[in-house]
Amino acid sequence: MKISKRIVNISESMTLALTAKARQMKKNGIDVVGFGAGEPDFDTPEYIKNVAIEDIQKGVTKYTDTSGTLELREAVCKKLKRDNDLDYTPRQIIISPGAKFSLYIAILALCDDGDEVIIPSPYWLTYPEQVKASGGASVFIETSVDSEFKITPNQLKKAISPRTVALILNSPSNPTGAVYTRKELEDIADVILATNVVVISDEIYESLVYDDAEFASFPSLRPELKDRTVLVNGVSKTYSMTGWRIGYAAGPSEIIDAMSRLQSHSTSNPTSFVQRACAVAMLGDQSFVEEMRQAFDKRRRYMVERLNSFPWVKCAVPKGAFYAFPDVSGCYGKKLGGRIIKGSMDMAEVLLDEFKTGVIPGLPFGDDRCIRLSYAMSMEEIEKGLDRIEKALESVRD
Ligand code: PLP
Repeated sequence: MKISKRIVNISESMTLALTAKARQMKKNGIDVVGFGAGEPDFDTPEYIKNVAIEDIQKGVTKYTDTSGTLELREAVCKKLKRDNDLDYTPRQIIISPGAKFSLYIAILALCDDGDEVIIPSPYWLTYPEQVKASGGASVFIETSVDSEFKITPNQLKKAISPRTVALILNSPSNPTGAVYTRKELEDIADVILATNVVVISDEIYESLVYDDAEFASFPSLRPELKDRTVLVNGVSKTYSMTGWRIGYAAGPSEIIDAMSRLQSHSTSNPTSFVQRACAVAMLGDQSFVEEMRQAFDKRRRYMVERLNSFPWVKCAVPKGAFYAFPDVSGCYGKKLGGRIIKGSMDMAEVLLDEFKTGVIPGLPFGDDRCIRLSYAMSMEEIEKGLDRIEKALESVRD
């Protein structure tokens, strides 16, 4: 049996694998604190759930239009106008089973074999795997804690080649929590507009920004950008609806049509009976979003302050999403839990095996110096887990 070259090199999602291991340990009765969560710990609000329940009962259980119901695409247009001052028509919108799938078909629609996609590093680990699956090649731009994990226009200029077809931007970022300012994005936009590169702007963490950070939607920055951007967003993080699997893309009709053709032959359409509920989520009462944001903000402050008080830790203040991405490389080469820590994989393993604390190694996100901790969990759990990490780091020896 032969597995295709494209797929053989695709790695399993490390976040899902480690979260599964921590979950299994918990099931076996071990008191594990897991910082791996990639989803809000809140329940989906009742008024949203009720719409889907009603639609199941009404028999909204058949195929819908490939690119989603007109009602939901119109709701996305209204949302983009209300929040981002963007004018799109329903033909420029595609609803997909999750933002992850929107990203995948956007990349597939843009990449021929050997085409290059620029990805700022650290990155959400799915991007390079999707680029691989599309036959393209990822070109990474390195950033670090010291540059607040943001690329500069000069770095971008240097990374662009005649084979570059796309740049993937993700602000607020998973895993770093970095949020670009409007000015920083405008400077990036100016570099992009001097080329033919398309920007895939992953705006899934739009509603989770903190302190003085302000979210700016990439295509809204310059009038010409709407024709050169595929904006990706969804309901997963904003309304705590990760399991519902609804995301969307807005962009030039040529690209959206191509994505829709791909979708018609892969998933046919997004799930029928959740679509009206997603429209209600986007256009209804938004107070849930602010309540959740405030809860995350409190946990974020607590987590970052404590992390920065630990030995060996250097943690930039994340301004968005729900992750901290501390640099723990200071203790690499030293001993922890009877092992020499050579990188983030060792660190994550020792923390889980010896200190019953699940974190995600930075390596699959492109930065082996760091580990990722989610704060989408209760304050009590955060406290307990951080106590364990503190104890672990205090026990590091030469
Ligand atoms: N983009 C980023 C940066 C993410 O972190 C995630 C989920 O973890 C997604 C997209 C996918 O969202 P969805 O659940 O809508 O597929």
